[in-house]
Amino acid sequence: MSKKQFAIIGMGRFGSSVANALSEMGFDVLAIDSSEQRTQEVANIVTHAVSADSTDEEALRALGIRNFDVVVVAIGENIQASILTTLILKDLGIPVLVVKAQNELHGKVLQKIGADKVIYPERDMGLRVAHHLTSPNILDYIELSAEYSILEIEASRSIIGKSLKELDVRARYGCNVMAIRRGESMNISPDADEPIADHDVLVIVGHKNDLTKLELAFSK
Ligand code: ATP
Repeated sequence: MSKKQFAIIGMGRFGSSVANALSEMGFDVLAIDSSEQRTQEVANIVTHAVSADSTDEEALRALGIRNFDVVVVAIGENIQASILTTLILKDLGIPVLVVKAQNELHGKVLQKIGADKVIYPERDMGLRVAHHLTSPNILDYIELSAEYSILEIEASRSIIGKSLKELDVRARYGCNVMAIRRGESMNISPDADEPIADHDVLVIVGHKNDLTKLELAFSK
């Protein structure tokens, strides 16, 4: 199977960090930005860096954008350009179209016009930081949908020494412990009878309301 081909449009902080990470993972990345300077800045990192206006359909066609498996639109402030670009790419039949939204309304429009995934990096990071700040043993908080999230929580005094069976997370809180991280190792099928150790990290999936209750109980 050939490697996936990625194109990233918009080399702001977010777009360039996605491009950078994909390149480091060994993928071919085409970086596009209307600013010559921005394209220059990533030229040494990605496979190809091109200066083009993504609202110009002909320019995108000329770059062979239709051959890419995944296109990420990381234009933030210029909402009009983001929407036009998404429309053009959708019409061109890009298999997976991921678009960064500036706010909820922008995100709704992107969804309506066919973006496969709408991402809100600032909002999501804000949420994660807020959860971490309110309870320091919350290490991460990842929104899966409007209703469900994943929580990474370090074992607090109230749960150390207890087993998953004793804690009975599913019946008491309606959540599922998917994995337990202990040091470098990740156990994805945790033993229900094994006591939770100091510094264990529980990875829990559940409804947001249920996770909030669990967060309160497990933070003590
Ligand atoms: P970040 O927060 O990730 O830094 P941002 O949300 O502030 O980004 P912008 O700076 O508005 O987003 O846009 C990101 C990049 O997209 C900029 O480098 C800009 O030059 C580029 N860009 C804007 N419009 C277009 C367009 N029509 N075609 C190609 N690139 C564009």
